[in-house]
Amino acid sequence: MVRFGPSGNSKIFYDEGNKTSIQAPQWLKSKGLLAYEYSFGRGYNMSKETALKLGEEAEKNGVEVSVHAPFYINLANPSDEMFEKSYMYIKAGIDYLNLLNGKHLVVHLATQGKMQRCDALNLTKTRLLETLKRLRDSNINLDNKYICPETMGKFSQIGSAEEILDFCAMDDLLIPTFDFGHLNCLTGGRFNNVEAYREIFDKSFEKIGEFKTKNCHIHFSKIEYSAKGEIRHLDFDDEIFGPEFEPLAQTIIDYKLEPTIICESANFMAEDALKMLNIYENLKKH
Ligand SMILES: [Zn+2]
Ligand SMILES: [Zn+2]
Repeated sequence: MVRFGPSGNSKIFYDEGNKTSIQAPQWLKSKGLLAYEYSFGRGYNMSKETALKLGEEAEKNGVEVSVHAPFYINLANPSDEMFEKSYMYIKAGIDYLNLLNGKHLVVHLATQGKMQRCDALNLTKTRLLETLKRLRDSNINLDNKYICPETMGKFSQIGSAEEILDFCAMDDLLIPTFDFGHLNCLTGGRFNNVEAYREIFDKSFEKIGEFKTKNCHIHFSKIEYSAKGEIRHLDFDDEIFGPEFEPLAQTIIDYKLEPTIICESANFMAEDALKMLNIYENLKKH
């Protein structure tokens, strides 16, 4: 099953009289949207009680909640103290997944900083494996939970498609988040045709296999970029920047993929998620 949903609460969610995120699953279901991402990008700011209630609502309405971990995580930072913090942010994300009945924890792995690319990649790899070992050694529930490293939009960040696939090949707990807005920034706007999408999924099948590729996590939004990469997220009504969703929808159908697709538009995440759902449903009829 392909699921569509917003990251966070759209303007229309509030315009239609809703007040708290606990109301989101029922509202989303009424629209046909069965995924919801909660971003803790600037830190974990939700009480355990609220998370439990939101998790119950999500389960009741068949909405799958994913969690976005804080942006402060940086597994390529040479400081051991920083690694302890990054580890705690990831562990707390899994705790929230358990409260929210979710499966996918989206993580920005690292930034290159002053290091050589290969050194930053090696340190990220070592610390990611250490993170997984520690999680397994702790008593945290990892059943049906996945850490989903995200492809990033700036060259200074760790997370090209190749890099993310290499990381995800290391362990069963790792499934990729393909952020096609970001990938579009890094490639100067390539993602407007079926071939560009096929290339990513072909590589994915080859490197991480069928299960992880079919069940990948996807972020989709239009993003303005410069030579250095990502500048800002836009809404679907923007006519200058990509990526285009139709060829992705066609590829998902052709390859029989079952991803969760989260819309990260600037203001109209739910509206644009609905546009994607409609495009996908229409293409599927043909
Ligand atoms: Zn992200
Ligand atoms: Zn993203």
